Amino acid sequence: MTMMLDIPDDTARTPRLRRPGRLFVGGTWRPASDGREFATVDPATGEEMGSVAAAGRADVDDAIAAARQALRDPAWAGMSPSARGRLLWRLADLIEAHADELAHLETHDQGQPFGVARNISVTGTAEHFRYFAGWTTKIEGATIPVSLPDVMHYTRREPVGVCALITPWNFPLMILSWKLAPALACGNTVVIKPAEQTPLTALKLMELCEEAGIPPGVVNLLTGGPDVGAALVSHPGVDKVSFTGSTEVGRSILRASADNLARVTLELGGKTPVIVAADADIDRAVAGCVQGAMFNSGQVCAAYSRFYVDARRADEFTEKAAALAREVVLGPGIAPGTETGPLVSAEHLERVDRYVREGVAAGADLVTGGAREEGALANGYFYRPTVFAGVTDEMSIAREEIFGPVMSVLTYDDPEELAGRANDSEYGLAASIWTDDLTTAHRLAADVQAGAVFVNMLHTPDPAAPWGGFKSSGFGREMGAYALDVYTEVKGVFINLARS
Ligand code: NAD
Repeated sequence: MTMMLDIPDDTARTPRLRRPGRLFVGGTWRPASDGREFATVDPATGEEMGSVAAAGRADVDDAIAAARQALRDPAWAGMSPSARGRLLWRLADLIEAHADELAHLETHDQGQPFGVARNISVTGTAEHFRYFAGWTTKIEGATIPVSLPDVMHYTRREPVGVCALITPWNFPLMILSWKLAPALACGNTVVIKPAEQTPLTALKLMELCEEAGIPPGVVNLLTGGPDVGAALVSHPGVDKVSFTGSTEVGRSILRASADNLARVTLELGGKTPVIVAADADIDRAVAGCVQGAMFNSGQVCAAYSRFYVDARRADEFTEKAAALAREVVLGPGIAPGTETGPLVSAEHLERVDRYVREGVAAGADLVTGGAREEGALANGYFYRPTVFAGVTDEMSIAREEIFGPVMSVLTYDDPEELAGRANDSEYGLAASIWTDDLTTAHRLAADVQAGAVFVNMLHTPDPAAPWGGFKSSGFGREMGAYALDVYTEVKGVFINLARS
């Protein structure tokens, strides 16, 4: 197995792919059937690293056929739960053995700092496979005391079938593991469609799946754009769709999969409200809030975004947050010392900047940032960490998902108004509360509409804890035992025990 990237010694130069990325279908590597390719770009330099196969309709058909055949293949269908668990564990070991290469791929394709790629994305991915390796031997049914005379009833939990796994560009490898690990633990087969901006770590993961000994056809990979995702979700051969991405695309996926009644789980956008109570330790709150907003350049579905700060502490909070934001070290993810990398693409940079212009036009007070980075970083997609004060509830920077390094600070006078204002949003993925008062913490945790609430801490998921959204942030849960529910079908078996 060779390294996929040719990495130059000079961190300012763009690495090159050693060969074009191919599709992985039925256990073989191949170009797209019509030969099309697309470029993948390093967001730190704006330069192309190489090209990757652009799957077409025929490739979608082939990948689904391969996954369907593998579902019945005794090499997979007949594999014992413990053998399946060992396979996932072996894959986790291989991910760790190739951690540096995977982290380089993620840093150059997505932009995230190398330390984040290495210690969070790659480590988190390996941990996710280990967590679900443990579940393979614990996917149990139940014996149910039905009231029919002489009838015994039990349930079996069976794989759903062929799963289409469609992922976004913000944490390409880690979010793929949130889907792939439980799908395989439950005995499904999959067709993966990574985001077109960031296909490289998924390609590398396929090599590792092959090396781990996952039977051919169980895991298939189609690189390509939204057309490939759209072809997958409306395909009659797909039994389940697991999607992470924008709310708008999530809605279209739900419509497209309706005719086939494919099972759908959606992890969508967010606009995390953060409540900073008057009693909060303000320095601790500021540090957590700035990191929660700027981590991965704000390209986090649960990114801390709209801050409701007690009016008595708002000036202090804003000044300290702006001072910290000004200190953030922007740079290429690969450069030592970089704290925040570029945004993922030129298109996304424009989108973030558009929101900032809207905030200024609406009368919010731009305290710091609000511009792309110039000078040595001008060719990359860098945006300065941005803090707005004087934001009001109806402004777009308080309501819409920016997915960039932008904090919107609002104030409140009456704690009783907090839950209502936090919940006045179409989203409900996460919420954060900063307080030293137990009652405030537990009351607000109960009252906010969000799939995850973080009290006095960063938005840190854990493989054992459920992850997913309320309202337009989606439905279904990833992680923990909850993920087993969405990758299995429950079958009830009735047995007549009467002799005649
Ligand atoms: P996106 O919706 O544009 O694309 C996501 C994926 O869907 C890509 O692979 C894309 O090619 C594919 N796609 C696009 N159109 C499609 C269609 N019509 N049918 C099928 N597939 C299609 O999202 P993005 O810009 O890559 O990611 C950013 C979004 O993801 C943000 O809204 C963010 O909040 C969300 N996100 C949510 C979570 C979560 O856990 N809830 C995690 C990360 C990101």
